[in-house]
Amino acid sequence: MAEENNLVWENFIGLLKNRISTVSINSWFKYCKIYKIDDAVQDNKSIKVVTIMTSSQYIKDALIKRYLETIEELMESILGKNCNIEFVLEEELNQERIEEQKESPPIEPTTVVEKPVSYQQNFETNLSPKYTFENFIVGENSNRLAYEGARHVAEQPGKLFNPFFIHGKSGLGKTHLMHAIGNYITAHSNKKVLYVTSERFKSDFTTINMNKDSKSIQMFKEKYRGIDVLMIDDIQFLEKAEKTQQEFFHTFNTLYDMNKQIIITSDRSPNDLKLLEERLITRFSWGLTVNIYPPDIDLKKRIVKNKMAGHDVANLVDDEVVEFIANNCENDVRHIEGTVTRLYAYAAMMSPHKIDLEFANEALRDYLKSSVYMDSNIAKIQKAVADYYKITVEDLKSKKRTANINYPRQIAIYLCRNYTDESFPKIGLEFGNRDHSTIMYACDKIEADLKINNQLKEIIREIKNNIG
Ligand code: ADP
Ligand code: MG
Repeated sequence: MAEENNLVWENFIGLLKNRISTVSINSWFKYCKIYKIDDAVQDNKSIKVVTIMTSSQYIKDALIKRYLETIEELMESILGKNCNIEFVLEEELNQERIEEQKESPPIEPTTVVEKPVSYQQNFETNLSPKYTFENFIVGENSNRLAYEGARHVAEQPGKLFNPFFIHGKSGLGKTHLMHAIGNYITAHSNKKVLYVTSERFKSDFTTINMNKDSKSIQMFKEKYRGIDVLMIDDIQFLEKAEKTQQEFFHTFNTLYDMNKQIIITSDRSPNDLKLLEERLITRFSWGLTVNIYPPDIDLKKRIVKNKMAGHDVANLVDDEVVEFIANNCENDVRHIEGTVTRLYAYAAMMSPHKIDLEFANEALRDYLKSSVYMDSNIAKIQKAVADYYKITVEDLKSKKRTANINYPRQIAIYLCRNYTDESFPKIGLEFGNRDHSTIMYACDKIEADLKINNQLKEIIREIKNNIG
């Protein structure tokens, strides 16, 4: 029996090779096999129930979500009957055995241990060495001015631009630049640099306010006034803290009068910090205020490339993947980083032979802006086809495979492929996450039908007219 099942599986993989890439087969089907094939009856017809064993829940979910239709189709062609596909997890099958082995020691859960920080963390400065000027990528329209300003401040702290005020939306590199300045200064001088978030400043101040003993007041003053460079990150969080603002005002004045450098970041420009004391806002504009704008496409591409470089799998990445990520991620460097990290985590899990568009699509589904797939052309075609056949766009995207839905779906897919510039994977995504082999199959099918079916030609002409 097991022999037979293995044969069916081999046969299946053979057919699958014509439908999906080797990468996908290795990623999803490599560790699967047929657990059993049962006979059953459904709607008075005899059918086969094929139970596939998978090695993880994750693979199981992916197979159900993306390949169920393909598996069904191929199994039906091999077994010559309608098939229902079921799945079972390897560990479920092993469950009994595990329960028998109650004596054995518990399995240590594999925890992801964060790499120990390899640098000597310096609590005095709070600087993180991972943010430097060298690994800050500069783009003309986005952050050039902020970068140049920061370099000047780093080279001549307290002299040129004081205070130095960087503002911009979250994730655009304000904190990075701030640390880069601090790291540069500590590497090139003996100056004392202190980086704090505004919350930290506030909590330090609140503590001395509660204790009110002269020793902690002294410590606070030393910490914040006995330094050469003070960096306050995300000053907007002081907006509602009036007492802390007053204290910051005095700290500011003391440092400023001694030509000590002050660097501030905020998610808004000084004038938009409506709840901050007027006198603070005035002071912020004494020095240089720079804005960081969201990256344009060119900068995004460079950042993606840069964040990808240096990893083991970097050479597996297709150029079009860089393009794809740059086009589809948010205008936010943090999100770009997260996207690359996720792609690589997925690659580590799947060990693909190459990281191409299809793989990236798979890995980054649900992570990138969904709107990019809402291509109006695809949506228009779907609507026109659904209207023509009096079904809904949801039907087209659904898993339903009845003829009255399947055939219109194939027509819609054919139209998308031939009348938009979208790739198979993208079209697949818009048709309920279908695998691109299903998309290819639909196109071939309709093309073949068109050669012999004049009525279909007429239908397609009419739908195209309706699209306009
Ligand atoms: P913000 O403080 O503006 O919210 P961060 O400085 O924390 O943003 O940046 C978010 C992440 O993006 C950080 O990991 C940072 O290193 C990275 N980053 C931002 N801008 C750049 C850039 N121009 N080049 C390289 N990395 C960047
Ligand atoms: Mg920040």
